Amino acid sequence: MDAVNLLGLDRDALDAYVARLDEKPFRARQLMRWIHRRGAAEFDAMSDLAKSLRTKLAGRATISAPAVIGDGVSSDGTRKWLLDVGRGDAIETVFIPEDDRGTLCVSSQAGCAVNCVFCSTGKQGFSRNLTTAEIVGQLWWAEHTLRRDAVPAVSGEGERIISNVVMMGMGEPLQNYEAVLPALRLMLDDDAYGLSRRRVTLSTSGMVPQIDRLAQDCPVALAVSLHAPNDALRDQLVPLNRKYPLRDLLAACQRYLRVAPRDFITFEYVMLDGINDSDAQARELVALVRDVPCKFNLIPFNPFPGADVRGSAPARIRAFAQTLIDAGIVATTRKTRGDDIDAACGQLAGEVRDRTRLAERSGRRPIAVAVRTA
Ligand code: SF4
Repeated sequence: MDAVNLLGLDRDALDAYVARLDEKPFRARQLMRWIHRRGAAEFDAMSDLAKSLRTKLAGRATISAPAVIGDGVSSDGTRKWLLDVGRGDAIETVFIPEDDRGTLCVSSQAGCAVNCVFCSTGKQGFSRNLTTAEIVGQLWWAEHTLRRDAVPAVSGEGERIISNVVMMGMGEPLQNYEAVLPALRLMLDDDAYGLSRRRVTLSTSGMVPQIDRLAQDCPVALAVSLHAPNDALRDQLVPLNRKYPLRDLLAACQRYLRVAPRDFITFEYVMLDGINDSDAQARELVALVRDVPCKFNLIPFNPFPGADVRGSAPARIRAFAQTLIDAGIVATTRKTRGDDIDAACGQLAGEVRDRTRLAERSGRRPIAVAVRTA
């Protein structure tokens, strides 16, 4: 029988596992703290666990994150790891240090089946969903590696380097709901990473039923990749829109806001030259979201090999933002981080065996709705 990877067990699952070993319930909490708060990878290091339990665990469990096969640091301090998840697939995880926070961008799938036209991951096609252990393993690895590397060293259980997690790496997290949910629960658990729901953001391209499920199960902060002010354009930029059009998506956002930890939805909008960046489109966007309390995060497009769209000029982004601001919407332009190591938004590619041959099948047609009316 395969060893159980304890990185993938949230509180309920770890409680059940410890009960199956005929151990007292408090052992689960001890184990969780050793693994996630202290970064222990060996049972022998868990000094307050009975020797008999350590021996039991050593025979049937592991604490095992994906192996690191690449580690790059950008001139701006952004750090990107390439992690081997087996069978020819590798995923990427990015740490973005800022003055007041440390954000980890986590992947949820090897590749992505949504196939957004401006995204390097989408272009690679889809291989498979990550397991909970592979998702949490990214945080576990990053947090404890960064602690070890910190100068002066960060010690103790309570001092975290990663203060925020964004599920915005490779993959559509809500297409891997069953594995993502326990991962989110571990991020929030005080005996694991203890992050508040406001500091964990899940980004989706618009999986409407799963947005409703997340609202019930674990309402963390929600970011929605909008990228277009109407269905005709969004159908082309984010093909999932054909299944869940804007009307349904925005209604789901409104329902989510009833339980969300923040009183707004973050809309992400990648700025594409001549495609979605006109003043008329900004005005259309204002009308579209008028009933949804929201903030806009405008994302300068980060080019990648084979991309067939171009980014908007900085002046165009400023003008677009101003239209939103003039309408009373908070709009910020994301600072590009880590682009010298291909770690910026939309650049994560990893190495994916495209089992769906999705990119090949769908082809890359020119975007037909390229309107610039202003
Ligand atoms: S932007 Fe997100 S949902 Fe779209 S292809 Fe890339 S990873 Fe998938």
